Amino acid sequence: MIKKLLIANRGEIAVRIIRACAEAGITSVAIYTDTDRHALHVHKADEAYNIGPQTVAGYLNAHRIVNLAVATHCDALHPGYGFLSENPLLAEICKRRGVRYVGPNAAVIRKMGDKIEARSAMQAAGIPVVPGSEGSLVDLDEALKLAEEIGYPVMLKATAGGGGRGIRRCNSSLELTRNYQRVISEASKAFGSGDIFLEKCIDRPRHIEVQILADQFDNVVHLFERDCSIQRRHQKLIEIAPSPQLSEEQRQWLGETAVRAARAVKYVNAGTVEFLLDKDGQFYFMEMNTRLQVEHTVTEAITGIDIVREQIRIADGLALTYRQQDIQRRGYAMELRINAEDPKNDFLPSFGRITRYFAPGGPGVRTDAAIYTGYPIPPDYDSMCAKLTVWALNWEDLLNRTCRALQDTGVYGVKTTIPYYMEILKVDSFRSATFDTGFVEDHPELTEYKTSRPTRELSAAITAALSAHLGL
Ligand code: ADP
Ligand code: ADP
Ligand code: MG
Repeated sequence: MIKKLLIANRGEIAVRIIRACAEAGITSVAIYTDTDRHALHVHKADEAYNIGPQTVAGYLNAHRIVNLAVATHCDALHPGYGFLSENPLLAEICKRRGVRYVGPNAAVIRKMGDKIEARSAMQAAGIPVVPGSEGSLVDLDEALKLAEEIGYPVMLKATAGGGGRGIRRCNSSLELTRNYQRVISEASKAFGSGDIFLEKCIDRPRHIEVQILADQFDNVVHLFERDCSIQRRHQKLIEIAPSPQLSEEQRQWLGETAVRAARAVKYVNAGTVEFLLDKDGQFYFMEMNTRLQVEHTVTEAITGIDIVREQIRIADGLALTYRQQDIQRRGYAMELRINAEDPKNDFLPSFGRITRYFAPGGPGVRTDAAIYTGYPIPPDYDSMCAKLTVWALNWEDLLNRTCRALQDTGVYGVKTTIPYYMEILKVDSFRSATFDTGFVEDHPELTEYKTSRPTRELSAAITAALSAHLGL
């Protein structure tokens, strides 16, 4: 039985995992860099260990982190998302050192981390993939020839890519020629591999992904889908479960297909199968993420299943306690990534001290935050500082409740994406659930909002001060 678990991560996801440990009676162990000594996960964990001054490299040092897990008598390690979460080396070292890795085995992480290998594994299983290259591109000539066959526009993508980086749309041979070297160098820098491939660009697709859970006894279930079409520069901003854009028939087909995908690679633990849905209702496999995802909270909201708890149980060698037909869903949920960014200034990161923070509450509202009043957001890490997850019985109520929850949230001292989300919630195509991945680009006017919230706060403070002064 897992009794003590090290979290090889920081921020809101470290806090999320610590919470799952606390509920399961597992001692949680946090790690933190010098920069992160004031971070929330350090306070929340049962034990916390400093891993030195290297702000990012500290969380990427697999050997050192597993050594620490062994030295502190941890029997398990959770990688969270980002950092080492898709690095097969971490899973391998854990195995060698007798620490249970909360995730799939190294071979599956390696295979699915390579988008070309993942594509061919899916093709072999009879799952439709986006038309594209069979292997990594050898040179520009091959790319041009292939693009001619497939037809423009095409996408150049990093084989080892992630986090929305290393992806470029090319509308013509000229653009393909121009972008070819660019994507290679982006990929080398970001992912340590210059391998790239080419895919047909799906016109105005929806991003629909399926959460799956699998144990080591061949039981695989899906927890329905999430619609992550609201993205900016291939990075998700808002995620919704279930997708309000699918028919029940599509939903069932997709769930079954994702389970088949997981079985095809003998997947164990929690994972996500990502698909693109085109305008004609055709689904294409895009990639598989072999880790916990940022937006897992919306799936938890509609199914009531604690995905992190399940991950730990599976890593513990336990069998799933339910079959597909036992998994029910209820209502709709949406998650909004609250990023410390200024939407009015091209979403430039806005780091600094949180002068005041009020978490929202009320029915159906959940916050997963890494911030508190007085917390200085360091410039070294991701700008996502909180997630708001809202649930309601139907889509209409969810829109209203999300609006209320956003109004209920106060993050002062830094700029955030909150006012931008309030604008998104007013847009007809969003409200009527007829959006695709082009939504953000189609609505540049949404950053034109008036910055009224801080003013309202300020005027309330002035009124209060005046009243006090005048003895009212
Ligand atoms: P999700 O896939 O869970 O919806 P993201 O794609 O935004 O979420 O990834 C979550 C975090 O992990 C982000 O901080 C992102 O930058 C990081 N990340 C994801 N994939 C990679 C990767 N292959 N290399 C480096 N960082 C990554
Ligand atoms: P990452 O590993 O960075 O998450 P993905 O392959 O999942 O990269 O793609 C991220 C996003 O880029 C998708 O959600 C989608 O919006 C867009 N995208 C990727 N491939 C295509 C494609 N072939 N056609 C259209 N859009 C695409
Ligand atoms: Mg993806």
